[in-house]
Amino acid sequence: MTPSVTRWPVAVLGATGAVGQAFIRLLDAHPWFDLVEVAASERSAGKSYRDAAKWLEGTMPAGVASLVVKHCTPEEISAPIVFSALDSGVAGEVEPAFARAGRMVLSNAKNYRMDADVPLVIPEVNGDHLALLDVQRANRGWTGGIVTNANCATTVMAAALAPLHEAFTVTKVFATTMQAVSGAGYPGVPSLDILGNVIPFINDEEPKIETELVKLLGRFDGTTVQYADIVTSAHANRVPVEHGHTVCMSVAFARKPTPEEALEALRNWTGTDAVRGLPSAPEPSLIIRDEPDRPQPRRDVNRGRGMATTVGRVRADHLFDLRLVAMSHNVVRGAAGGSILNAELLAKTGQLARYLAP
Ligand code: NAP
Repeated sequence: MTPSVTRWPVAVLGATGAVGQAFIRLLDAHPWFDLVEVAASERSAGKSYRDAAKWLEGTMPAGVASLVVKHCTPEEISAPIVFSALDSGVAGEVEPAFARAGRMVLSNAKNYRMDADVPLVIPEVNGDHLALLDVQRANRGWTGGIVTNANCATTVMAAALAPLHEAFTVTKVFATTMQAVSGAGYPGVPSLDILGNVIPFINDEEPKIETELVKLLGRFDGTTVQYADIVTSAHANRVPVEHGHTVCMSVAFARKPTPEEALEALRNWTGTDAVRGLPSAPEPSLIIRDEPDRPQPRRDVNRGRGMATTVGRVRADHLFDLRLVAMSHNVVRGAAGGSILNAELLAKTGQLARYLAP
């Protein structure tokens, strides 16, 4: 299949929020996907998108401004591909309703990420896990499906650790995150709580990091994902940065690499072949910086149009084997852009056409 000849109508659920708006920006003039519908809560439904959304960055694409915001139901939404930026409080019921109704749901919510038959995918890292959709369809009898992307801090970690795990087998990770305020959505963290401050707690974040990482770096055996044998300890912090989650990691390996060997593995890594050339795929997806003071969100967050992960400070560690710092854009790479890349990979490999055939 040549994906570029098929244009797919798509909808965004939760279109008024921080991630929903990123979807709208990234889908504007997308070569394969046409944004035809937007949906949000009862508060927004029935209004024009222009009136319902408090637009956060740049100019609202003209095509979406006049769309009428719909309710998040498969009866109101007709698009076969549904990007979900829904709050987890509602995603649990809404997303399976769409999958049952034959739609392909690309979800950012936490609800189904760890279900055994739901792909949790960063395309370059574990694009092959998308084949779990066959298991999901057999198990649940859905004519559509749900594909998830990971928590935004876990996405940073998995992107940086995947090449090292492949080459040297990661066994332990001690991670401290510094997470941007946009990770809390809009309006998010009150300004008096975060300006000039660090908050050493993000609800439910540490368990998500500790569980999702082993699924992302796990091996799909054709039926299930065999989780990677990695123990992770995470400290999650909210910091006064607009966009970009930074993660400092100390890592232990089954085969201890020197920093030079680790850098070589990171530099040579290309990830899942099929991802290369996709419209949203950054080239390269990993950027390795040698300067002692990088990565930095202010300087590196928009690399690869917000889809690249920047890694630096790769050095020996006194506690484990190696230390490093990784950073990527939480709303783009860690959410909307990651979902769109998942959909592009499904399109390229013919899975969209196969699942959504009438
Ligand atoms: P947000 O800014 O709070 O937006 C939430 C969206 O959900 C809004 O469009 C809201 O619509 C809609 N919504 C809320 N209650 C609803 C209901 N009962 N029925 C239908 N729609 C409803 O949150 P966000 O940051 O965009 O996050 C969206 C999802 O992505 C969450 O599951 C979050 O955990 C996940 N995520 C976020 C990030 C990030 O960096 N922000 C990264 C990865 C994953 P109204 O405007 O009408 O209320």
